[in-house]
Amino acid sequence: MSKIGLHFFQLSINESNNVLQFEWIDYGSDSTFAGNPIASGSDGKFFQSLRHYTEKQKNIKGKRSIPSILGLNTYENAMYLRSNISHLHGGVFLLSKEAYNAITKINKFTKSLNKRALELDKECEEEGSPNKKVKSDLIFSTSGYKLTPRQSQALVFKFYSIQNKLYQANKRLKRAQNNLEKLKTLSPSPKQNEIKKQKELLDEKINQLKNEENLGSSIICSTKSFLSLILTQQCSCGNNDILQKKCKISSGGLSVKVVIQCKKCKETSSFQNEPSNMNYTKVFATATLCSRLNRQEFQNAMLTIRIMKLPCKAIYHRYQKSMDKNIKNVALENAKKALYASIDDAKKKGKNVLTVEFDISWSHVRNTLQASGEFIYHEIPEGYTHKPIVGYFVVEKSHIKKDKNGNKITIHQGNHEASSKQMEHAVLIEILEIVVPILEETDMLLDIVVDGDLDSNKTLRGVKCVNKIFSDLKHLTRNIRKKLNCN
Ligand SMILES: [Zn+2]
Repeated sequence: MSKIGLHFFQLSINESNNVLQFEWIDYGSDSTFAGNPIASGSDGKFFQSLRHYTEKQKNIKGKRSIPSILGLNTYENAMYLRSNISHLHGGVFLLSKEAYNAITKINKFTKSLNKRALELDKECEEEGSPNKKVKSDLIFSTSGYKLTPRQSQALVFKFYSIQNKLYQANKRLKRAQNNLEKLKTLSPSPKQNEIKKQKELLDEKINQLKNEENLGSSIICSTKSFLSLILTQQCSCGNNDILQKKCKISSGGLSVKVVIQCKKCKETSSFQNEPSNMNYTKVFATATLCSRLNRQEFQNAMLTIRIMKLPCKAIYHRYQKSMDKNIKNVALENAKKALYASIDDAKKKGKNVLTVEFDISWSHVRNTLQASGEFIYHEIPEGYTHKPIVGYFVVEKSHIKKDKNGNKITIHQGNHEASSKQMEHAVLIEILEIVVPILEETDMLLDIVVDGDLDSNKTLRGVKCVNKIFSDLKHLTRNIRKKLNCN
């Protein structure tokens, strides 16, 4: 049913013998469609007769579109019809879409060919020679190639097949590039995360245990525990079989290194008993230097704790020598700092005299006689917890040996060639050489307490800024008592 102008129409489409009949009845102004029709018609050409009829009616103005009268341009109607048709005739819409796309594709391609033809003309013109027939190894002709329509069709198919291959190859390449990028920025796998977490937990636990007992960065541990820990380490490939591991051990001085190679995956790992950045031999050699132990005493101490593998003499002394200078320099520098601090302290207390005690200690650390002398300030300046050493110097004799032929060989070059008795005197002179310029610079005098050595007194009397010399009687009496006991 439909209303066109003021007329009410009934339209119907019938089929007979595979031919469609388009029928219409005009009920005039009767909206009930019950009275007698005023006109009717039928045709096989999509309501052509109706169109002609309406054009002649005075109360129907303008041309009327049949699809619009049938309601085909209403969305709901179109959807209803489309779903019914697709239900009855499966792929009809799909096919039409495919055909539409194919046509569009060919149209676009033809357009692009036209464009390319013009470009080719232009390029050949620009390249100059109009006689030039070969371009990019192909014949070029302004009139183009003479191809049959079937050849042209084959060419288009060939072109698209090659283009498709290129497209696929590009797609694969892009995917590979993306995967590579992903791998680069890949967040760690759950397994890696787990390993990281375990390592963090381990570090945390190690720190906690270390702090609990104030262990410091190294401990001397049992050789058996050390080696068993290394040998039971699982390789990253999962191998934990000792027979499937190749071990190589090497040692030098107090350091031990074990290299383990996994026979399965060839991965090598190396283990050391020393913490990184630490050389046990150097550390021990320095420690003995500070504690005034000679090599024999050091060896005995190490053997007591069952450390049998000890550094050889040459290495031991080489390390001591390398550290010796550093230790002395640090001591000299600290003594200088303490001297200025002590001078400040004395001045604050309204004094222009610095009272110090001169003390000397003997050692036989590096197979030679050493004497280290100190000036000790007799009060405690601000920032110090003890009476500071304000002057310091070490003299040592050279260690000289005779070889088989009786030639003298200097094993260790000292800084004192005179007799041992004169060493104390030499130390005192050296300390005065460091301290006196500073005293003069700060307008200070020196009161000095020495033991009853006459030589020292003589030396000190010659120094301008020395105010008073006291003999340490306690020291003297102690020495006398010692001598009496010996006798
Ligand atoms: Zn392995």
